[in-house]
Amino acid sequence: MAEITLEKIVSLCKRRGFIFQSSEIYGGLNGAYDYGPLGVELKNNIRDIWWKEMTRLHDDIVGLDSSILMHPRVWEASGHIQNFSDPMVDCKQCKARFRADQIDLAAPCPNCGTRESFTEPRNFNLMFSTHIGATSDAASKIYLRPETAQGIYADFKNVVSSSRVKIPFGIAQVGKSFRNEITTKHFIFRSCEFEQMEMQWFCAPGTDEQWFEYWRAQRMAFYQTIGIRATHLRWHRHGSDELAFYAKDAYDIQYLFPMGWQELEGVHSRTDYDLTQHQTFSGKDMTYLDPVTNERYIPYVVETSAGLTRNVLMALSDAYEEETLDGGDVRTVLRFHPLIAPIMVAVLPLVKKDGLAEFAQTLEKELRDEFATFYDESGAIGRRYRRMDEVGTPYCVTVDYQTLEDKTVTLRYRDSMEQVRVPLADLVTTIKAATKAYTRTGGEG
Ligand code: ATP
Repeated sequence: MAEITLEKIVSLCKRRGFIFQSSEIYGGLNGAYDYGPLGVELKNNIRDIWWKEMTRLHDDIVGLDSSILMHPRVWEASGHIQNFSDPMVDCKQCKARFRADQIDLAAPCPNCGTRESFTEPRNFNLMFSTHIGATSDAASKIYLRPETAQGIYADFKNVVSSSRVKIPFGIAQVGKSFRNEITTKHFIFRSCEFEQMEMQWFCAPGTDEQWFEYWRAQRMAFYQTIGIRATHLRWHRHGSDELAFYAKDAYDIQYLFPMGWQELEGVHSRTDYDLTQHQTFSGKDMTYLDPVTNERYIPYVVETSAGLTRNVLMALSDAYEEETLDGGDVRTVLRFHPLIAPIMVAVLPLVKKDGLAEFAQTLEKELRDEFATFYDESGAIGRRYRRMDEVGTPYCVTVDYQTLEDKTVTLRYRDSMEQVRVPLADLVTTIKAATKAYTRTGGEG
């Protein structure tokens, strides 16, 4: 089995239009990425499945889309202005900046090799700031949100009073967050502009531990839904040195990325800390009156916080395989679960002539309503299959001469490369059934 490196994934992403470096024609911008034609489909698919699971398939969760720019007091209340920082050192020689906890301060500078060139560690706030309005004085200073969660807390009362939610319930949100990360290596794993999928679950004090376990199980199960190998996922419980001072308990779901085990999502038991802080700083009442018991309390919060863009890197890393075929050929294949594949069905005429192209084009248009489709008529059929393998298309439908005679097509499965003859009338149901029953086969399994 060939080694899977991040470099191989980065190269495929650029070559096939998944992910590009931002502003590449100007030399690129560190920590910022563009999602190309296939990347945006993959990202949206993961986002949509998360959203559906959280909101539509869950009785007690409603959605929210709060703004990126918020009142600066929000970040005082949340503790981000005071505490959201990493200890940094600068090399006095080459001016490179490092996280003090990620390098050996006794060793030479990793960038220029100078010895004893580091400044004392200084705290460096990770929030991007800008100014709102016409003036740019201290009073107009605002921040780009470093997480989506605070928008949920700030709107807690609005949601309770405008919808029919009763505790326990959740508010889900997907959106951009920004952090001035100094160490942005590992591609999109840690970027300055990224997307999060967060859900805050509000519950009665005393029920939080049970909900914490419930949400841990739910969140791990989600990754099975999108086809991630269980062997590449594990839990990491925060030790006392990692736990935020207000947190009761916290676990990370870690994924085995090409560069090792790393955090993918956090499930955190946050007590009543956030709502209490906002009550104190805003002077607005954040309590909830339980209609059944008539008790008034500030709800406890269990948070599930996943990186959407980090999920994209996980999906690519999990799917990537270089498979040696009988005869020695190697094919690059992305074994995406069909539900997240950017293209689900490719329609290919065996040859362009004799009406096959027109037939295939019409078929492709008919299938658009059901699936994300793609039409390709250029090059030998074997080459076209390989191109589809490389972008993770689970089903290829080939129109040939027999199709014109008996209205059947060849359905080729990406993982097994098996080809079956399917009547056109059964094509949609066959693909849907295969998707429902999908388990990854071939290669590493
Ligand atoms: P780390 O320790 O990796 O900096 P964190 O513990 O600060 O992450 P959280 O604040 O808990 O992360 O954010 C929740 C999720 O948001 C993370 O699990 C991750 O998936 C995602 N995330 C956080 N920072 C970034 C980033 N800079 N780039 C991409 N995704 C990120």
